[in-house]
Amino acid sequence: MGVYVVTGVASGMGRATANELRWRGHRVIGIDLHRADICADLSTEEGRAKAIAGVHEQSGGRLEGAVFAAGLGPIPGKEEVVAKVNFLGTVELAEGIRDLLARGNESKVVIFSSNSTTTVPGVTPEIVKAFWDRDFNTVLKIANQSEAPSTSVYAGSKTALAHWVRRTATSMDWAGQGIRMNALAPGAILTPMVESQLEIPEHAEQIKALPIPLGGFGDPADIAQWVLFMLSPAANFLCGSVIFLDGGTDAWFRANDFPLPLAPEQMEHFTKRYQEYQEFRKQRDGK
Ligand code: NAD
Repeated sequence: MGVYVVTGVASGMGRATANELRWRGHRVIGIDLHRADICADLSTEEGRAKAIAGVHEQSGGRLEGAVFAAGLGPIPGKEEVVAKVNFLGTVELAEGIRDLLARGNESKVVIFSSNSTTTVPGVTPEIVKAFWDRDFNTVLKIANQSEAPSTSVYAGSKTALAHWVRRTATSMDWAGQGIRMNALAPGAILTPMVESQLEIPEHAEQIKALPIPLGGFGDPADIAQWVLFMLSPAANFLCGSVIFLDGGTDAWFRANDFPLPLAPEQMEHFTKRYQEYQEFRKQRDGK
């Protein structure tokens, strides 16, 4: 039995995941604004520092996994908080507890991204870069030039996270230390987050109009089962993947966009990455 960190443990998919982990006999260190082992505001620097210190204190020195579910949806007027909790509340916390994950045995990390990454207009490479640079003035400036700033910030934060996972998961600090990090991209899941959006008429209209070929909404308990699968030995060979769990929305809109074959103009980059891998392999294997 292992020790796992779950953020966003007080509600929705984080809560369902923590319940499932505990039911299977694991110990969970839950983080949230309230109703958690560590109560911390992950949108602030102090809150993130408190969470990192608390996990070090409570973990006993190692973790078998971490699930980053804390987050906010698109909330008009709260763009800065949404940007910071969704991106920094995940990335900085993951970086801050990486040492404990590296001591675990084939430890697993699941990051909650979203299918808004591929299905929402208005996310530009510039806003993703600004998240990467942790330059939130620029994030807000770019978002404010779009038609729906709160949606651009939300989808931008989740796209930046998905790219961060793809890029970071394969690095020496993560894959090189045996940590398996992947992202989940849920569609519309009936949690308190979506329930509150359904109470706002224009958001409700948008959500109900969304193509979901399987119909209905996702169930948080089903998503928790998936997260458990991604924390299990079944995921030992999974690294840097973004898994869509959205009733078919992404495939409906973007059937031919993924997988994309290797284009001739990408050969230079490909060759460079081959060469870089030789160095990576030497370091990873200690040769
Ligand atoms: P939820 O609102 O039920 O739970 C989110 C939790 O995050 C809450 O307990 C909340 O208190 C916590 N949280 C929010 N701000 C925080 C802060 N500053 N510091 C600490 N904790 C904070 O939401 P959910 O639907 O279970 O969402 C879980 C994750 O999945 C989120 O990252 C969300 O963006 C993502 N997601 C949800 C959906 C959906 O349809 N529900 C779709 C795609 C992605």
